Amino acid sequence: MIGIFGGTFDPVHFGHLRPALECLQGLDLEQLRFIPLKVPVHRPQPCASPAARLAMLEAAIADEPRFMVDARELERPGRSYSYDTLASLRAELGAQRPLCLLVGADAFAAFLRWHRPQEILELAHLVVMRRPGHRALVDPELEALYARRGSDTRAELARAPGGRILFQEVTQIDISATRIRRLLATGQSPRYLLPEPVRAYIARTGVYDGCGMGELPA
Ligand code: ATP
Repeated sequence: MIGIFGGTFDPVHFGHLRPALECLQGLDLEQLRFIPLKVPVHRPQPCASPAARLAMLEAAIADEPRFMVDARELERPGRSYSYDTLASLRAELGAQRPLCLLVGADAFAAFLRWHRPQEILELAHLVVMRRPGHRALVDPELEALYARRGSDTRAELARAPGGRILFQEVTQIDISATRIRRLLATGQSPRYLLPEPVRAYIARTGVYDGCGMGELPA
C-alpha cells in the first residue's frame, strides 16, 4: 500500500510529519509520498516557490526511508485537483496497487464538495487522520457514505485498490504553516516547530523574506 499526502507545505512542519509517520506505521505502508500542490484550488497562493517547497520537503524527510517527495503536481500545468493526481498515480502504479489518500478530518468534512469525490474514492482509499476520541462525521450524507464504505482494518484496505474509508488516530500538533510564516515575518524564530534542516534552509535562503503575514485561521 502506498500513502499519498498532498499539501501546500509552505513550509512543511511537525504538524504534517508526525501524523504522516503515524499513518505510515499504523497502516504499515510501503511508502508515503508527499505531493506538494502547485496551485491550490481553494486558497491563496503559496509564498515560497515550488522549487523551495520541494527543497524544504526533501530536507525534512531525508532520514525516513519510506517517506518520498513526489513532484508531479509541480510539473503539471494548470490547476491541481486530487482527482488528476490520483489518476496519474493510478496510471503509473497499475490498477491493483492499494493507494491511501491521507486527509485531515477537516478536509474530509468537506469531501463531498471536492472535485469528483466518487471517482476519487474509486481510485484510492481515504485515510482520515483524526484526534484520538474525536468523531469526524457530522454531515448525514457523509455518514451514509461511511456506512457503505467504512473500514476498521488495514487488511481490508490491502485487499482492494481503493474504495474504503478508514479513520486513523494520530497525534495532532497545533502548528500551522501560516503561524510559522507569521513568526518569520515578525523576526521570531520558528525553531522546534519544524525540522532543523528546514529551519536552516529558510534562514540560509531567506525564502520567506518579504512574504506577507497571511491571515491566521480562526
Ligand atoms: P497553512 O497554514 O499555510 O494553511 P498548513 O499548515 O495547514 O498550511 P498545508 O500544507 O495546507 O499546511 O496542509 C497539508 C495537509 O496537512 C492538509 O490536509 C492539512 O489538513 C494537514 N495539516 C496541516 N497542519 C496540520 C496539523 N497541525 N495537524 C494535522 N494535520 C495538519
